[in-house]
Amino acid sequence: MSTALIQLSNVRKSFGSLEVLRGVDLQVRAGEVCCVIGPSGCGKSTLLRCINHLERVDAGEVLVDGQRIGYRRIGNRLVELPEREIAKQRAEIGMVFQRFNLFPHLTVLENLLEAPTRVRGEPREQVRERARQLLDRVGLAAKEDAYPAQLSGGQQQRVAIARALAMRPKVMLFDEPTSALDPELVGDVLATMRDLAADGMTMLVVTHEIGFAREVANTLVFMADGDIVERGDPRRVIAEPEHERTRAFLSKVL
Ligand code: ADP
Ligand code: MG
Repeated sequence: MSTALIQLSNVRKSFGSLEVLRGVDLQVRAGEVCCVIGPSGCGKSTLLRCINHLERVDAGEVLVDGQRIGYRRIGNRLVELPEREIAKQRAEIGMVFQRFNLFPHLTVLENLLEAPTRVRGEPREQVRERARQLLDRVGLAAKEDAYPAQLSGGQQQRVAIARALAMRPKVMLFDEPTSALDPELVGDVLATMRDLAADGMTMLVVTHEIGFAREVANTLVFMADGDIVERGDPRRVIAEPEHERTRAFLSKVL
């Protein structure tokens, strides 16, 4: 009976005349891992970007832990929140992208300190303690003084995960976190994500790693053409897809 931490209702988004999200409904409950698969261009990244208001939705609503993202209702009008309020909401939502997006001129440890000290105004000493624990947790305690360019792609991505966690987010969004990595580096990143899931983090993960989805996800969602075609227990969806489109997609990626 746990509550939905992420709740999307009838979310619509177009770019010009291109309708990218066609009324998406999605719930991710506290502690749940939901993986999203689907062909390139079907709207997966846009869906994630709508959750932290990097994109404005055209219709529908996004709630994270019961809070409406990006807007406030005043009477019967929806008014976009001021940038400062949006930044506060985003601080609760960790995001990890395909490209690691670390600050290149900062060390690993400084990358982790940046948002909590600057956005939240937390004392540096207090954050440093937590940041070191997080680096330890992703297996990179020895690299705190290294610069991003001195790390492998897989290490950089684990730093990016630790950096997101340093803000103590309520949920974590991952957008194809391993698809820019050399194959031999994928495993360590997936292992880090698996640990995070085992720790009870609520996660929405866009990925092509079907094995990860099968073993770690509670729910697997198949998207095509801007809507959810099918969702359910990952083993069931993978072994016995109900829809022909799901079947066709899986036959290409498995
Ligand atoms: P996916 O992540 O599933 O590959 P995306 O959400 O990135 O798909 O993109 C869905 C569609 O929206 C694509 O056709 C893409 O070209 C288009 N799109 C994404 N972002 C923009 C944008 N900022 N402006 C115009 N079109 C966009
Ligand atoms: Mg994408």
